[in-house]
Amino acid sequence: MTTAKQLSDPSCLFCKIAAGNIPSRKVYDDDELYAFHDIAPWAPVHFLIIPRMHIASMASLDDSHSQLMGRIMTLAPRLALQEGCEPYPTGGFRIVCNNGAQGGQEVHHLHVHVMGGPRPWSRG
Ligand code: 5GP
Ligand code: ZN
Repeated sequence: MTTAKQLSDPSCLFCKIAAGNIPSRKVYDDDELYAFHDIAPWAPVHFLIIPRMHIASMASLDDSHSQLMGRIMTLAPRLALQEGCEPYPTGGFRIVCNNGAQGGQEVHHLHVHVMGGPRPWSRG
């Protein structure tokens, strides 16, 4: 059983990726956040931003996570440009955050998808 305040869940795929125990193609990292390319991209640019601490989903958030979530949202546009998305407004990017089974979440470690690049995309 995992909790919102848990630092790391040894059985969690994205905790293992953030720790470097499973390889990934890094986009960005710092003390709180890690970003890496999605293994099955929907778009020419498709990466994920995750908190290093294990948070299962947005449903687990409380006020103590406000700054962390704000950092993810302000980091996303910067990394989108860095990874090759064209500038807003003719370019741009899409942010998706799936939560729970009916929300389409498959990996239960909070993650924000950032997708962009020239269309058509393979999905979306
Ligand atoms: P969700 O459906 O939970 O919002 O998205 C999970 C995402 O994680 C999917 O887009 C999937 O392709 C990606 N993913 C799953 N396993 C791995 C992995 O081992 N490495 C990487 N880089 N991405 C993964
Ligand atoms: Zn985790």
